[in-house]
Amino acid sequence: MSVRNRYQCVVDEVAEVREQYGRAPSEVRVVAVSKTVGPDEVADAAAGGAVDFGENRPEQLAARADQFPALRWHFIGNIQSRRIPEIVGASVLIHSLYQLRHAEKIDRAAAAAGKVQDVLIEVNVSGEASKSGATPKEAPGLVRAVAALPHVRVCGLMTMAPQGDAARAEAAFRGLATLADEIRATLAPDEAAAFTELSMGMSEDWPCAIACGATIVRIGRAIFSESFEE
Ligand SMILES: *Cc1c(COP(=O)(O)O)cnc(C)c1O
Repeated sequence: MSVRNRYQCVVDEVAEVREQYGRAPSEVRVVAVSKTVGPDEVADAAAGGAVDFGENRPEQLAARADQFPALRWHFIGNIQSRRIPEIVGASVLIHSLYQLRHAEKIDRAAAAAGKVQDVLIEVNVSGEASKSGATPKEAPGLVRAVAALPHVRVCGLMTMAPQGDAARAEAAFRGLATLADEIRATLAPDEAAAFTELSMGMSEDWPCAIACGATIVRIGRAIFSESFEE
C-alpha cells in the first residue's frame, strides 16, 4: 500500500470511530507525524488529502514548512530555547510547551513575527519519568500564566500515554480530559472559548483517545510505516 492509501485508510477508520462516539467531523483532526520519513512521503500523504503534519525536530520542521507552505506544520517535539524563533516561524500549533520561560520566549518571537502563536500545554498525566510535561498539579497555573501573554493563545492540552498498556493509556486520556474541563472552568470567557483542543492518541492507541475526547490524534507509523500492524 502507498502512503496515500494508508493515510486514507487511517482517516476512514478515524471517521468510523468518531461516529461511534457521536462526535462531529470537525471535532477530530489527524496530524500526520512525518518525523521519520522523507519529503516524497510527505508529498504522497498530501496527495492523499493530508494537510496537518507534525515534526519533532525544529530544523526539519522549518525546512518542510518552507518546502510545503500549503501544508499546516505542527511542532510536537522537545522545545530548545534557542530554536524558538525557528519553531514560531514555522508552526501553526506548538503541542509541547510546558515551561513558562519558553512561553515567554515564544511570546517575544511571535510578537517579532507579527503573529499570535497557538500552543498546547503538555501534561505528564501518567507521571512516567521518561515523559516530559507539566504535572497535573502545575498545569492549571501554567495555563493561566501562558494565557496572560499577549502573543500566545492556549488552545488546550497535550499528553503522551504510556505505551503497551491499554488500561494505563486510557487512564491518561481520561485524566487529561478531566483536567482540561477543570482548567476551562477557571479561565476567563475568551480564554475558555479558545481552550478546546485535546491532542492525544498515536498509532497504537488513537481509538481509545477519541473515545476519551481527543480532538487531535498524532499518527506516524500507521500512515508512514509499511510494517505497522495494529
Ligand atoms: C512520534 C510521535 C507521534 C507518532 O507516533 P506513532 O506511534 O508513530 O503514531 C506522536 N506524538 C509524538 C509527540 C511523537 O513524538
